[in-house]
Amino acid sequence: MNPTTLFVLHAGADAGASVQVLGSSFSASRKHPRCLVRKRQPERRGRLQRFSSPAWRQRLRRQVLQAQVELPQVRIVGAGLAGLTTAIALIEEYGWDPASVSIFEASDTVGGRVRTDRLPEGYLLDRGFQVVLEAYPEQKRLFRVTGAAYPDELKLRRFLPGATVCLPNGTWAYVGDPLRSDLGDVWTTLLAPLGTIQDKARVGWMRLQTQLRYTSNPNSILEQVNMNGNREETAEEALAALTPGLRQSFFSPFYRGIFLDELYNISSRLFRYVYHMLAVGYASLPDNGHGIGALPRFLAQRLRDEHGLTIHYGQRVTDLSTLADRAVLVLAADVASTKKLLEQASVANRFSPKAQADIRKLLCGWLAAGADGVHETLQRVSTCLYFGGEGAEPPEALITRPRSLVLAADAPSPSGMPRRPLVNNLCFPSAVARSYAPSNKYLVSCTVVETALHQQLDPKDNDLLPGGELEALVRTQLYKWYPSQRHLLDDWSFLRGYRVRGAQPRQRLNGERFVMPNEDGCLDAGRLYVCGDWCDTPTANGAIHSGYRVAGGIAKAFSVHSRSTSSR
Ligand SMILES: Cc1cc2nc3c(=O)[nH]c(=O)nc-3n(C[C@H](O)[C@H](O)[C@H](O)COP(=O)(O)OP(=O)(O)OC[C@H]3O[C@@H](n4cnc5c(N)ncnc54)[C@H](O)[C@@H]3O)c2cc1C
Repeated sequence: MNPTTLFVLHAGADAGASVQVLGSSFSASRKHPRCLVRKRQPERRGRLQRFSSPAWRQRLRRQVLQAQVELPQVRIVGAGLAGLTTAIALIEEYGWDPASVSIFEASDTVGGRVRTDRLPEGYLLDRGFQVVLEAYPEQKRLFRVTGAAYPDELKLRRFLPGATVCLPNGTWAYVGDPLRSDLGDVWTTLLAPLGTIQDKARVGWMRLQTQLRYTSNPNSILEQVNMNGNREETAEEALAALTPGLRQSFFSPFYRGIFLDELYNISSRLFRYVYHMLAVGYASLPDNGHGIGALPRFLAQRLRDEHGLTIHYGQRVTDLSTLADRAVLVLAADVASTKKLLEQASVANRFSPKAQADIRKLLCGWLAAGADGVHETLQRVSTCLYFGGEGAEPPEALITRPRSLVLAADAPSPSGMPRRPLVNNLCFPSAVARSYAPSNKYLVSCTVVETALHQQLDPKDNDLLPGGELEALVRTQLYKWYPSQRHLLDDWSFLRGYRVRGAQPRQRLNGERFVMPNEDGCLDAGRLYVCGDWCDTPTANGAIHSGYRVAGGIAKAFSVHSRSTSSR
């Protein structure tokens, strides 16, 4: 052993071995990745004098002996963002031996809900419209983003901030971000027939305030609960100062496209958080030929190339007892699968009495659902139809700013309840990231609103939608948007439709507050953990954050300290 290095491992009080890290600037030894190595400078009192003292040698011997005690195996169920993050954090932040970490994934690839299909013609279809919100702090940490630069391999390409809006009377308006637009677009935004001048001033103030107040600590937004009477304020209430005109024509469809739900069902904290992310960062798509699936793919590659960890695909875990033997189990599956696995575990009675009680509490509380299971009651649905158009770029007659999102404003109705158009938002992914379509075609993505869909037809229970009734309804709405461009729309070929029933966990009001659990996902310390977006915010960032928290919880159970000084 190099005399200037020191292995610092010692036995944990209650759970086998532990790794204690004594400060910053550590690197993992290649031969012993689990061992944390720190270059140590002799103190001033004499060059090698300190290292040669008997006490020092004894301490070193004890530590090397203890280094041979194994940290437990960690078995992760699910290779979505939460599961991948748990593995990466354990290995990279806590020095876990990659050989002791396994990931079991039911499907044939990584990513879970963040997944892309490639059609033989060359189109890339994300399973539902989704974007990378570049400013998400946990996501930046996971992708080792310095400043605003994500890894080059992802080739992120940005949407324009804001949106192009189709108003109920058939006119169009553009709403940009005055702080990130050219002068022409600033004027267009100020003159847009959406809301009043006071509305625009209020939104401008909101925009500036969020940037100034929260940029250094965005997570503090999630910690500030605003109450309205005896319950937490909703996103709709947070926007009450704006006229209904601006709320209905911009905020409702914009945030419905993100949360797949109505503003009155969303916590004002979550709304403010995502608003902040959009104010300080961009929404983008990867352009490296893998669609949105490039993100988890990049992480799986990192696990394989840097740590030699391969994921076990096609391995649906149905019985925890087959995995649990002396290993730490992490359920990083979606909420429906987690529920099934925990139900089975609670019957098998394999965990401590306290864990059994916690599992029952979770099953009767957050995971409780109607007769159909968690899908119908706790999940938001995303329905997205893809079309292919002729030409490398969408025609200007359809969109003047092809990199902007297109929104359909809600229409006022005599009942006071605004009418929601069937297509909530539309975009041209290939205009943002070219690799989404073959060279002489452009791709169109149309997201359909669940409530409007149910008013018009009873969607079948399948995940892949064939063309047919829904396609015809979507085209009918788009004819209204572009009455003089029917020929262009008729040239679009229907590619595929996705109906993702478990797209996001729905936010629930639990008594007074929206549920946004923020614990380490521990059900049985050192034995059983849960993570996933349903344990945090219903976003990619939430899934990643929950993975970090679980890794931290496991490390704590085995007294392993983080080697990163920047961990949250
Ligand atoms: C259409 C759509 C649009 C979205 N848009 C955005 C967006 O723009 N921005 C954003 O931040 N978020 C968005 N989200 C949400 C985001 O994608 C999710 O919050 C996040 O991906 C959830 O990750 P997860 O790891 O928690 O779960 P999942 O992605 O569901 O991963 C769970 C994994 O576990 C596996 N699994 C399940 N059961 C088992 C079992 N028994 N054995 C083995 N493996 C199992 C599954 O196959 C899956 O791979 C969107 C989601 C959808 C569907």
